[in-house]
Amino acid sequence: MIPVYEPDLSQLEEDYLLDAFRSGWISSKGEYLARFEETFARWVKVRYALAASSGTTALHLALLALGVKPGDEVIVPALTYVATANAVTYAGAKVIFVDVDAASWTLDPKDVENHITDRTRGIIAVHLYGRPARMNRILPIAERHGLWVVEDAAEAPGARILGRPVGGIGTIGCFSFFGNKILTTGEGGIVTTNDEQLAQLVFRYRGQGVSMTVTYWHDLVGYNYRMTNLAAAIGLAQLERYPQIIAAKRRLARWYTERLASIEGIGLPAPLDWADEVCWMYSVLVPRRDEVRAQLAEAGIETRPFFFPLYRLPIYYDSTAYLPISENLAKMGMNLPSSTRLTEEQVDFICTTLSKIVRKTKPVEFTTAVWPAQVAEERSMVIQAASHADST
Ligand SMILES: *Cc1c(COP(=O)(O)O)cnc(C)c1O
Repeated sequence: MIPVYEPDLSQLEEDYLLDAFRSGWISSKGEYLARFEETFARWVKVRYALAASSGTTALHLALLALGVKPGDEVIVPALTYVATANAVTYAGAKVIFVDVDAASWTLDPKDVENHITDRTRGIIAVHLYGRPARMNRILPIAERHGLWVVEDAAEAPGARILGRPVGGIGTIGCFSFFGNKILTTGEGGIVTTNDEQLAQLVFRYRGQGVSMTVTYWHDLVGYNYRMTNLAAAIGLAQLERYPQIIAAKRRLARWYTERLASIEGIGLPAPLDWADEVCWMYSVLVPRRDEVRAQLAEAGIETRPFFFPLYRLPIYYDSTAYLPISENLAKMGMNLPSSTRLTEEQVDFICTTLSKIVRKTKPVEFTTAVWPAQVAEERSMVIQAASHADST
């Protein structure tokens, strides 16, 4: 089976990890942590970077530092990983889902404006699958309404918008270092910001709310969301090898695009003229996606479907919501194998197999017109599931 992702680990990660282990600094203090945070801050061109135990806890820390509380509303794209919305829920606030735009698959600035109310406090822009959100349109909207913008850059370290690294453009940036992300520490995350006060609050919430000056003095309820020095050792090696990793990702995206661009019935990610993307997961849109995925699996090729629009999950279920672009992308989108270790021969095999399958399943017209019926069918299933959950 060709896996959808594999971490890119080398001798350097092993050396640093062993060095951290042998130093005895295996918990959340140590030289690697300090070096990792400093290097990351320089790399994203921000003043502060604070390592966390995961991308999810990084997001929660960001929202805590921003003072998000019950009664607040936070705008989130419907098409993202569930952790983006969960962080808002942890803070007690209400998630307001808005649609993405068809070209970038990220927050649609117009739909953001449609959903701003008196209770809106901020916007989480997600750089989905390595494709940067339209920050140059979102930031002015936020400014006009006095809102903060958190960048969920979990899937896009190294991407740039008009030359600026993502994660250093909004009020706060958050990254994930889960095993299948572009950079990994096993489990881990980091918060980036230029704001000293926010950085201090993130520091304190991360470490049980301890005072900056008095030991064992706690004047807010914090968490233990720290990263270990062991994880940071792996992370530092990953950062030092980043040019190599990104070059491999760019080459992979080029291989896929060259082979798939001329195949009828396969939708490719549109080039973004405002950003350099990083291709976390090379993604395509195909009709009858689930059938195509099953046939690819039979041929030994693992893929992943796009996320569900989050308002369709039982935990965020909203029977009145229907965001058409998110619905269509969720229906047709899938991630192809995207690890840096793939060879050109493997990409050839994947593309040839995919083309054959798509040609066979072609009878469905490649238009959005066919989707509402199928979506309606699935919606009724979700409604049944939800009403069942209510009654038990
Ligand atoms: C992976 C991911 C997260 C969460 O990161 P973890 O390290 O798994 O907690 C958050 N948002 C997005 C968009 C992600 O892809």
